Amino acid sequence: TTFEELAISAPILRALAEMDFTTPTDIQAATIPAIRDHQDVIGVAQTGSGKTAAFVIPALESMAEYTEHAKPGMPRALILAPTRELAIQITDKIKELGRFMRTSCCTIYGGAPYRTQTHILRRGVDILVATPGRLQDHMKQGNIYLDEVEYFVLDEADRMLDLGFIDEVRDLARKLPKGHQSVMFSATMNNQIRTLAETLLHEPVSIEM
Ligand code: AMP
Repeated sequence: TTFEELAISAPILRALAEMDFTTPTDIQAATIPAIRDHQDVIGVAQTGSGKTAAFVIPALESMAEYTEHAKPGMPRALILAPTRELAIQITDKIKELGRFMRTSCCTIYGGAPYRTQTHILRRGVDILVATPGRLQDHMKQGNIYLDEVEYFVLDEADRMLDLGFIDEVRDLARKLPKGHQSVMFSATMNNQIRTLAETLLHEPVSIEM
């Protein structure tokens, strides 16, 4: 499979070429069509598989359909990551892949001042990348509402569980609007992950690499 065969949009193809990504990885070839098809997905894939681009490319494509700026504090896509490092990596990838697009994106995580994050959120962002605790704090302060989220990604679900964020994740997922699409990635599969997938996902397609 090539990126052209996956019918990736022109601005993303251009970014991929600049990044020297010539061929989709297996997880990308399997996941991108399913996500575009509006299906919920559970992907079992390691870091290094190219999973980030697999969930970022469809997000950028669907956000590009909006002509109006996101409302203050109301992201249209939410990506949850267990750690600040991962949140930053994902955001960097969104910025690289989306460099020829107008989609806005920002990241919020603990251990950094609230002020800058709050300021960016008030301008409105299409794609929000967040760690669970800081996201909850901003929601309590009225800086973020999840009512407009149509695309939700839970990355590294197994680490999320290991780090004890399960209650936060479930709480946050309950605040998402009806009809949103959910995608979950985990490096490993076990009963706990399966149970979480059952509560978060609706008739998911399972993709294991
Ligand atoms: P990830 O599994 O998302 O952390 O990605 C692992 C590494 O592979 C990252 O450095 C990506 O930039 C790189 N990568 C992802 N997709 C591709 C691709 N299609 N071709 C070449 N490199 C890629």
